[in-house]
Amino acid sequence: ATPTALMVGTGRGAQLGILIKGPEVLETTREVDTIVLDKTGTVTSGVMALTDIVTADGVDADRTLRLAGALEHAAEHPIAKAIARAAEERTGPLPTPTEFTAVPGVGVRGVVDGHTVTVGRADTPLPAELRDAKERAEAAGRTAVVVTDGGRPSAVLVVADTVKPTSAEAVRRLRELGLTPVLLTGDNQRAARAVAAEVGIAADQVIAEVMPEDKVEVIRRLQRTGRSVAMVGDGVNDAAALAQSDLGLAMGTGTDAAIEAGDLTLVRGDLRVAADAIRLARRTLGTIR
Ligand code: ADP
Ligand code: MG
Repeated sequence: ATPTALMVGTGRGAQLGILIKGPEVLETTREVDTIVLDKTGTVTSGVMALTDIVTADGVDADRTLRLAGALEHAAEHPIAKAIARAAEERTGPLPTPTEFTAVPGVGVRGVVDGHTVTVGRADTPLPAELRDAKERAEAAGRTAVVVTDGGRPSAVLVVADTVKPTSAEAVRRLRELGLTPVLLTGDNQRAARAVAAEVGIAADQVIAEVMPEDKVEVIRRLQRTGRSVAMVGDGVNDAAALAQSDLGLAMGTGTDAAIEAGDLTLVRGDLRVAADAIRLARRTLGTIR
């Protein structure tokens, strides 16, 4: 393509809400055949709300929510924001933890009011009532996190995210352009499949329960099969994978880390614009199929 065509393409991209790091990015854009979509914040709104609290026998719901909320108040994750917000609404201003650690892709732990508390993925066996609640929530596409207090599971907190209204159309358009969409997430397998089904991604194209540092390995694995891989993401935990992918697309509504790592930014955070970007690149470079 001529430099002029690339300039025109870049300008047209800006009108569509696509920021392109450099004209040469369009060359890669037209080559991609696989598009990996981060789930939370990319396919879904990423704004979560607490929908349920299920406690173990003899545990007070508000008290547990308060301990969990106090810890999550110090964390960044959308799950953390949902829990902290609900705790504050239901129980008033939250205490400050005396110890706090966030473990990306796992959860938070610390000390609140003298209680040693964790909130996140459970690696301990759960009593039946909590295990059942967790399985039911996940089957419905929700995320269930476990609260432990003094090492004992005390509650399951269920948070729900919503699929963006534009995601199903975006997936359809990406498919029409000949791309294979893949859903990638740290969230559990059942919740990931429920979201995939809602937007039209095949169950065998769901890669779930992936730790943040392993997302980049998923991209490499796909590349080793000879695919040219685009990735769309929004989070700090997507940055390395965005950088590794042949074409990184960052949601403009996402974190600075993702935007810096990407080759393209979808300014409005609308996944349909990912399809626009690929069409634009193919058209600009005269290879519209
Ligand atoms: P995603 O890839 O969907 O953005 P993450 O890799 O950030 O998800 O997190 C994966 C899982 O780790 C979450 O579904 C949740 O179970 C747990 N988790 C991570 N951070 C937190 C937190 N602050 N509070 C509770 N659970 C968390
Ligand atoms: Mg995300």
